[in-house]
Amino acid sequence: MHEYSIAAALADRVREQIELHRLRRVSVVRLRIGRLRGVVVENLSMFLGLLLEGTAAAGAKLEVDEVPIRLSCPACGMVAEAPEVWALHCPRCMGPAEIVAGKELTFVSLEAE
Ligand SMILES: [Zn+2]
Repeated sequence: MHEYSIAAALADRVREQIELHRLRRVSVVRLRIGRLRGVVVENLSMFLGLLLEGTAAAGAKLEVDEVPIRLSCPACGMVAEAPEVWALHCPRCMGPAEIVAGKELTFVSLEAE
């Protein structure tokens, strides 16, 4: 259901853009998603396809730019990429790190005619 609610919000944005710019056909929908969101892109793409049926964006391709998780350590100033969500500590001093990237969920653009 997680992907469904994201797809619903995204479909609203796409419909808005179609209306605003009077688009006749949308071929690509671009999105930026942080890895911390834990979004399954295949599911998101499937739901979005269903939600956009019958619109100018029917059959549009979903292009996702996945943003890696980045950490910043307030104790030693280290900035590092975290391979997984569970590794939220500083790799240098092992102190608790702050998440500075990876929570993104941004509608980027449409490719349209
Ligand atoms: Zn540190």
